[in-house]
Amino acid sequence: MREKSGERLYRPRPDDGHRHCLVCRECGLSAEVEASAVESWAAKLGEVMGFAEVEHTVELTGVCNGCHPGRTAPAPTEQHT
Ligand SMILES: [Zn+2]
Ligand SMILES: [Zn+2]
Repeated sequence: MREKSGERLYRPRPDDGHRHCLVCRECGLSAEVEASAVESWAAKLGEVMGFAEVEHTVELTGVCNGCHPGRTAPAPTEQHT
């Protein structure tokens, strides 16, 4: 899919298809996530409550596959000198 030429969005706009990310608390890896449920929920809530221009901030953090405790990885040895 290509965006309409001549219209460049260089600023994130909450009401225009913004994205949400899931960030790993361990290594800081960020993965884009599908949050259509949040979008529709927020939009519906705005209608129900009679609010316009409803914006939201969603912070999602977790532990990625690479940092998952269940994974058998050698524990990093701290070396302070
Ligand atoms: Zn990680
Ligand atoms: Zn959103």
